[in-house]
Amino acid sequence: MKKISWVTHPQYDIPLPKNHKFTSSKFSDLYNELHRIGLSKHADIFVPEKASVKDLTLVHDQQYIEKIKNGTLENHEERRLGLKWSPELANRSFLAVNGTFLTTIKAIEKGVACHIAGGTHHSHYNFGSGYCVFNDLAYSSIHLINKGFVNKILIFDCDVHQGDGTASILNSHTNIFTCSIHCKNNFPARKSISNLDVELGDNLNSEQYLVILNETLNNCMKQFEPDLVIYDAGVDIHKNDELGKLDVDDQGLLLRDETVLSFFKELSIPIATVIGGGYSKDNMELAKRHSTVFKAAKNIFL
Ligand SMILES: [Zn+2]
Repeated sequence: MKKISWVTHPQYDIPLPKNHKFTSSKFSDLYNELHRIGLSKHADIFVPEKASVKDLTLVHDQQYIEKIKNGTLENHEERRLGLKWSPELANRSFLAVNGTFLTTIKAIEKGVACHIAGGTHHSHYNFGSGYCVFNDLAYSSIHLINKGFVNKILIFDCDVHQGDGTASILNSHTNIFTCSIHCKNNFPARKSISNLDVELGDNLNSEQYLVILNETLNNCMKQFEPDLVIYDAGVDIHKNDELGKLDVDDQGLLLRDETVLSFFKELSIPIATVIGGGYSKDNMELAKRHSTVFKAAKNIFL
């Protein structure tokens, strides 16, 4: 039986105070949900190793990496990150960047692969922000090109927030194209400049969203011909998301993911997916939303 490659690690969850906006158990919740709905029988599962400090210096300031490793962030740096440092947070941050990298390798081998984490797009060169410690999208892209796996990469970011860290880290890399479709009136207040930014108004519904999505996919391909796509399938575009301001429903979310996956499948361009953001007090509801891209991958590729 043909299977889809998934990447995950049992040490992705982090300890956080109750009522924190970020769901500390979202990675294991999602893994359990995928199992519960029977999707894991269609998956081959791979586990990453930790990235080294040296590897991370490709995209981050060494001093910043050491602060994460050793737990020596200043208070204002921790506030900007939005997460309290813990040994578990440090450990997961070094694992998850390589998780996305491993997912891209599997995507190149098989056409598609899905990371049960990733999409930490607010992480900048020398600081973390918006719950994002290290930038897995920038890290994986530069790593892949340096190691000669591919020449040109498209980062297609559909999280409701702009991929500001990714855009700024990759600013001078002409062989990596950053595209961000995001809500204009949302975090971060100060946006970076991606290769293609598509700003959405508040309360956009599924139908309107899908029209813009299709236009944007075609626009990207007019400007750039990637050998690999990294797709940030953030579910904070959902109408019930606590931080999103759009009005996309369950069906719209599934159609978005299926549209993106089938678009690149038709072009025979491999695609690696990351889960991106998603916010709900209801852990099960959140896991269900994040399971959408895995469902879409099965529908399109199996
Ligand atoms: Zn987001």
